[in-house]
Amino acid sequence: MGMSASLAALVKQAQQRGGIDAMPQQHFIGGQWCESADGGRLPIEDPGTGRPFIEVAAGGAEDIDRAVRAAQAAFRGALAQLIPAERGRLLLRAAQLIRARAEPLAVAETLSSGKRLSESLGDVAGAARTFEYYAGACDKLHGETLPLGPRHFGRTVWEPVGVAAQIVPWNYPLSTAARGVAPALAAGNAVVLKPADPTPLTALMLAALLHEAGWPAGAFNVVAGTGAAAGAPLVAHGGVDHITFTGSLATGQAVMRAAATHVTRLVLELGGKSPVIVLADADLELAVEQVLGAIFENAGQICSAGSRLVIARALHEPFLERLCARARAITLAHGLRDEGMGPLISQVQQARADGFVQRARLRGVAVRCGGRPATDPATGAGWFYEPTVLDALAPDDECVQHEIFGPVLAVQVFDGELEEAAALANGTRYALAAGVFTRDLSAAERLARAVDAGQVFVNEYFAGGIELPFGGNRGSGFGREKGMEALRSYSKLKGVAGRL
Ligand code: NAD
Repeated sequence: MGMSASLAALVKQAQQRGGIDAMPQQHFIGGQWCESADGGRLPIEDPGTGRPFIEVAAGGAEDIDRAVRAAQAAFRGALAQLIPAERGRLLLRAAQLIRARAEPLAVAETLSSGKRLSESLGDVAGAARTFEYYAGACDKLHGETLPLGPRHFGRTVWEPVGVAAQIVPWNYPLSTAARGVAPALAAGNAVVLKPADPTPLTALMLAALLHEAGWPAGAFNVVAGTGAAAGAPLVAHGGVDHITFTGSLATGQAVMRAAATHVTRLVLELGGKSPVIVLADADLELAVEQVLGAIFENAGQICSAGSRLVIARALHEPFLERLCARARAITLAHGLRDEGMGPLISQVQQARADGFVQRARLRGVAVRCGGRPATDPATGAGWFYEPTVLDALAPDDECVQHEIFGPVLAVQVFDGELEEAAALANGTRYALAAGVFTRDLSAAERLARAVDAGQVFVNEYFAGGIELPFGGNRGSGFGREKGMEALRSYSKLKGVAGRL
């Protein structure tokens, strides 16, 4: 990838110093930077080297309480005075600032999450696009009039919910923040965001940008810190009116229990084990290319990763030969070098992924490529994992049933019937995304109906942008983000009716 001179300079600075100038290190509460009440701080590690490069404030219940109060004050005060069109202008200005600061945002994202620089730049562009989309939507969320007859009137109105809490994971720190914050603000709410423990930087940079764009103090607050110390008090806080939680199934269950205390509205975006179904008539080259991207992008750390290949027996061998040849050719490199595949987020995740693969080996599963922890060949450091393909797994195999969250593809073979493919696809507790590759339009449509998933991608995995609603069913959670659905999700519907 050709880099601009300014980006190359930032990368050089990050490589030489381990960090860049623009990185915030404190919470952002009520329009101000501040330390934790107890002075707590956490080191942030570069997963590409395994070394900490900055310390950031790590908050607790007291900081969360201050942030929620600041958000409540903004919601009742300055935000209540902003007309929807003005909110739209402020979101558009935020989008422009995100684009203007794309390079430092992307470098900070890569340093803390490990992802390739070009993926981080893509995430930043996506975040800007998210703010643009909702900028144009602020003044288009309107209710209806209801035909109650000549003696009555009736109408509906969408009202903001109040304080929207966002709990964000580490795999898409900025994009997940953007897809929650933009519609929440668009609908007239105030936001308190708790980034994931290892990746607070871009959420804090976003706070600075929104402030600069003109959002009133308290409209957007960020409290960094761990899930236990900062996340738990946020989701249990009585001043929070809506929770969007994006993370693992186990934590989502804990968040749902906490939300019950105050009957807080909740959207859960949890994990996935999404199937990519390849029928015998699929365009082989296209499908191989797409399956590679579906599992190896961001080193497989994507909730909607195509982590299972459900393939027709007739195509199985030629497909796997091509796929594994391509997978073996993927180089491993620090995200800032922007080539091949980056690291996993931590040593813990690396060991977890490897545990699944080594147990599979012991069960006699064919490891067709990869299958070992690795380092950046340039430095001998970092939490990398080889692109891995596990072949011909049984439907109840743990590598089929559990989210590995790494570059490990689980292959399941079917004999040709669409029903069998759909049954395999639906055979886990998750139901987030699915892919279908075929030249047969009717088969694609039948599978799109038969597969239980929040979104089905036909002949292009990850197709669609901010316009396409996103979310899961069953163990993948409930509620929808993105699209116009998200605006309604951050709003309360009120019906007003009476006699004339
Ligand atoms: P995680 O559940 O460990 O953490 C997610 C967030 O929850 C973090 O900010 C964490 O600090 C916080 N948290 C932890 N304990 C908490 C508690 N008791 N109360 C409140 N907050 C708490 O998940 P992770 O390891 O950061 O992310 C990976 C998981 O997220 C995977 O399962 C992945 O599939 C899922 N994910 C889902 C989506 C989606 O849109 N469906 C998107 C990205 C990631």
